[in-house]
Amino acid sequence: MRSPGPAPHLFPTSTAGSMPKPSWLAEPEKLWSQWKPEGRDLAAAKQDALLVALAEQEHAGIDIVGDGEQTRQHFVTTFIEGLAGVDFAKRETVKIRNRYDASVPTIVGAVSRKEPVFVEDARFLRAHTASPVKWALPGPMTMADTVFDAHYPNREALAREFATILNQEARELEAAGVDIIQFDEPAFNVFFDDVRDWGIAVLERAIEGLKCQTSVHICYGYGIKANTDWKASLGSQWRQYEEIFPSIRASGVDMVSLECHNSRVPLELLELLRGKKVMVGAIDVATNTIETPEQVADTIRCALQFVDADKLYPSTNCGMAPLSRSVARAKLQALAGGAEIARQEFASGDVCAAGAGRN
Ligand SMILES: [Zn+2]
Repeated sequence: MRSPGPAPHLFPTSTAGSMPKPSWLAEPEKLWSQWKPEGRDLAAAKQDALLVALAEQEHAGIDIVGDGEQTRQHFVTTFIEGLAGVDFAKRETVKIRNRYDASVPTIVGAVSRKEPVFVEDARFLRAHTASPVKWALPGPMTMADTVFDAHYPNREALAREFATILNQEARELEAAGVDIIQFDEPAFNVFFDDVRDWGIAVLERAIEGLKCQTSVHICYGYGIKANTDWKASLGSQWRQYEEIFPSIRASGVDMVSLECHNSRVPLELLELLRGKKVMVGAIDVATNTIETPEQVADTIRCALQFVDADKLYPSTNCGMAPLSRSVARAKLQALAGGAEIARQEFASGDVCAAGAGRN
């Protein structure tokens, strides 16, 4: 049995992971933008940015904090850069998640971890906060979907190797004091057969032996055009989660981080995860419109019909990297404010009545 992890009160808030980068670190309001400082200046600037991201979360009242992914350019490739067996000069264009073309590095030999990738960053974060810490890593299936493989016989074999590497990293992150390790698996929302056939088993390889909490984040992606076009094609009800929740529920993963607010996901699908902790996305990262605390509370009320109160973790739908800092800051404040409204209602017994009649 894993430790329950510190929870200061009901509905502890967190982000999916990334926060906007300061303009002195990288071009703002842009995904995957290039670093501005170089060499030793860059290393110091990344640490400074991590402290800024931490301060913004804590100031907004976010309960479970992260590094804001300030030390990575891309949620998958920055991790892969630290591995042997990958040739970043040899690039191929592949279709990511069956949706958009991207130029990606090539797997040219057996993959292995040359050295810890994020462990020093996690130690640095841990040393600067008393709050519970969540750390995001790419999921093995999403990693395998973000490279061109010229070495392994199939995608499963590559993902399994990635999982072994992720497990090494995760064990060291746990030892560095990380409370929740999250694996980002947007690919789970696309390759349903693979998820059932080997995706869950490979994810369980990545979490093997961990005593900290483990989470899987499955979303509909950042607000880039390829994703918004895809969302527009999904019809009035997004039922992708229905395909994979039963096998996730049967898995050893403790928590599931999901997109909810402003999506067309029928929230009753959360019932399929009953018993798991659910990070309920109550902040839309694909719009600059700031949610009100009342809207956040409403998402929590709706989710409470399908998620036990002690297992409900309000969060953002996805990373906030592409937003402006002021928008991200205001959204975090709304998230914390909405969770507080829900706490007070729940304590007074009003929340079920308030949530009734909605779906
Ligand atoms: Zn996401």
